[in-house]
Amino acid sequence: RESKGKLPKYPGLERYTLLEKMGDGAFSNVYRAKDNTGQWDEVAIKVVRKFEMNSTQPNVLHPDFAKQKPQKGVERANILKEVQIMRQLDHPNIVSLVDFSESKQYYFIVLELCPGGELFHQIVRLTYFSEDLSRHVIIQVAKALEYLHEQAGVVHRDIKPENLLFYPTPFIPTRNPKPKGPEDEDKADEGEFVPGVGSGGIGKIKIADFGLSKVIWDSQTMTPCGTVGYTAPEIVKDERYSKSVDMWALGCVLYTLLCGFPPFYDESIQVLTEKVARGQYTFLSPWWDDISKSAQDLVSHLLTVDPDKRYDITQFLNHPWIRQSNEPTNAAA
Ligand code: ADP
Ligand code: MG
Repeated sequence: RESKGKLPKYPGLERYTLLEKMGDGAFSNVYRAKDNTGQWDEVAIKVVRKFEMNSTQPNVLHPDFAKQKPQKGVERANILKEVQIMRQLDHPNIVSLVDFSESKQYYFIVLELCPGGELFHQIVRLTYFSEDLSRHVIIQVAKALEYLHEQAGVVHRDIKPENLLFYPTPFIPTRNPKPKGPEDEDKADEGEFVPGVGSGGIGKIKIADFGLSKVIWDSQTMTPCGTVGYTAPEIVKDERYSKSVDMWALGCVLYTLLCGFPPFYDESIQVLTEKVARGQYTFLSPWWDDISKSAQDLVSHLLTVDPDKRYDITQFLNHPWIRQSNEPTNAAA
């Protein structure tokens, strides 16, 4: 690969050899890398800089503005939260955490590698997805959300095509990325073949990027976080609203998969914000002309402004458009 010569070397990350840059954001660079010890197959490493040079101003929107120290502590808490949440998670449609370490300047989040990269690029490549391929993708995202919302007590809060990664078909992992015990250590994952639905070549989908995610209830005690017994209604509602944020985003993703452009867009951020607040979108002709009424019905139940009326994950999974799937019910598992 052409980028090979330009890859940095991070002190403290000697265990891995960086092979290729896969993504970069404001605070992080993500690389495909090889584990020199051979314990893991190829992995993805999210390298996060601990201190941003020009982000040391205190956040004026924060209630404790006056008391704030430089960003240092804030960033540290955030990244540790991301890792702490990922540690608790174990689901086939969620990127698994392999390892975590840090140096003086960086955090290194070692992740299961999704060789296909972002779903986003596939939407660009294919222009839009067939209904079958869209269903194949969105069911897997929904399974992950069902697990997060109903079992793990976590809301993701940043569901979008850039944070949805995939394995190309046929899906043939060479090694189980997360051995559960010594007896699994050498048990190669058999892999599985997810039938190519349409021509997408998209197999298993995984949710990534828990940088904005939040724990809403304690999965051990099944109670809202940080409360002991006398939970106020607004706290309970808060929990439900935060889940519904993911459902709205799921609707935006489904809309985008089906037609190739997002439901809400405007050059002006003010106008865009206003459109979202009003839930002002349309099934634009001619792009939506050949998309089934059932798919449109499902989208409209997600892009519902009132969070109490918006579909939750169970209603989503029970909608006829989802249930007409002709893939085996465990295709996403
Ligand atoms: P950020 O918080 O900067 O958005 P992400 O965790 O979303 O960080 O990672 C940024 C990008 O890096 C992703 O959009 C994707 O392109 C790539 N990436 C992240 N994790 C993986 C992974 N496990 N496998 C493959 N690519 C990844
Ligand atoms: Mg991201």
